[in-house]
Amino acid sequence: MKIIILSRSKRIYSTARLLEAGLARGHDVKVVDTLRCYMNIVSHRPLIHYKGEVVEKPDAVIPRIGASVTFYGTAVLRQFEMIGTFPLNESVAISRSRDKLRSLQLLSRRGLGLPVTGFCRSPDDIDDLIKMVGGAPLVIKLLEGTQGIGVVLAETRKAAESVIEAFMGLKANIMVQEYIKEAGGADIRCFVIGSKVVAAMRRQAQPGEFRSNLHRGGTAEVIRITPEERSTAVRAAKVMGLNVAGVDLLRSNHGPVVMEVNSSPGLEGIEAVTGKDIAGMIIGFLETNAAEKKTRTKGTG
Ligand code: ADP
Repeated sequence: MKIIILSRSKRIYSTARLLEAGLARGHDVKVVDTLRCYMNIVSHRPLIHYKGEVVEKPDAVIPRIGASVTFYGTAVLRQFEMIGTFPLNESVAISRSRDKLRSLQLLSRRGLGLPVTGFCRSPDDIDDLIKMVGGAPLVIKLLEGTQGIGVVLAETRKAAESVIEAFMGLKANIMVQEYIKEAGGADIRCFVIGSKVVAAMRRQAQPGEFRSNLHRGGTAEVIRITPEERSTAVRAAKVMGLNVAGVDLLRSNHGPVVMEVNSSPGLEGIEAVTGKDIAGMIIGFLETNAAEKKTRTKGTG
């Protein structure tokens, strides 16, 4: 198979592993810098150019599009979809997953467990919004944040009010969320491929910290997840229309709640912790699914 990996650099761990796994399984794999692709949009013969050359239609494309280049990256991916290439994850599904509010709205519509979440625009509504999510302590999140940056735990109502006001003063988009205290600073990353959780790890925050992101000094270990957690993760990926996803769950008193569904989940942590060849499994998924006419849009809106 001819496979293109859309990524900024070959040196990124996940990109390097996917390249290695694809070559090892006998495929023709190339890494293409997403931001160096350019396109013409015409009715009959859309083209993709890369560094001066026309890109020949690959059988499959693996998008590894960073949050900061979502807009251009999904346009490039869409162009590959238009020429009939099978995307590991579709452009629409990636766009959906990058909008945290849209994602939570879609997941809630399908009845998935979520932390109670609120959002508002006007400072006049802060008071009632805090009531709506059950009062302090609560978590305030910047919608544009990643890697735990812009996620704040407000222990008291007063603290919550001032943080929300401060963010609003900076014109930042935020959401306010019930604090799942019983999770004890841990979350579970479920790596979903197709309709299976192929690996899972528990990330634990450093003492005194509630954010378990590895970038914030969290540690990770293998975990056995429950059947309910397994089905929650698989359903969450399905609702988003993602073939491959990193679904982050918290263990709450009322069962697993979905915190986030990541459309470009990193391989480094999960492969190191579980010892599994996740990159090989992703290529395996393409081998079974990249047949033509399987590129129709999935997911719910
Ligand atoms: P990011 O996308 O920036 O990583 P997250 O929403 O995943 O932000 O939050 C970062 C970390 O903070 C999570 O991994 C989790 O450990 C913790 N966390 C986030 N939301 C909650 C919550 N509602 N209750 C308890 N802990 C939370």
